[in-house]
Amino acid sequence: MPEETTSRDTYAAMLAMVQSFHDKHDFSGTGGEDMVYRIALMAEELGEMSSCVTKGKGMEEMAEETADLLILVMGTAIAGDFDLLEAFWKKMDKLMKREAKMIDGRIRVSEFRGRE
Ligand SMILES: [Mg+2]
Repeated sequence: MPEETTSRDTYAAMLAMVQSFHDKHDFSGTGGEDMVYRIALMAEELGEMSSCVTKGKGMEEMAEETADLLILVMGTAIAGDFDLLEAFWKKMDKLMKREAKMIDGRIRVSEFRGRE
């Protein structure tokens, strides 16, 4: 591993570990990188995060389920062969320029197309 990716605090190090996980179980050759399957797995993890809220589980469990989802999201970038780091910064640039609105007592940052 190149020196700049040895820190656990970098996206590159995290992505390299997720790639190792995929390689360890040969996800690319065993259906683990199928997009439909990955969407289902991400929905499953989102459901586990939801149950942390609805069943009053603590933030330690929420952190673990959120990590599960993050690992799947990063693995989806591997499966889809796209640069998630680049996509993240491109999207954040867009989001930072958007207006926010209060809708039913909650803030929403969106393009608000087709409504006022
Ligand atoms: Mg989980």
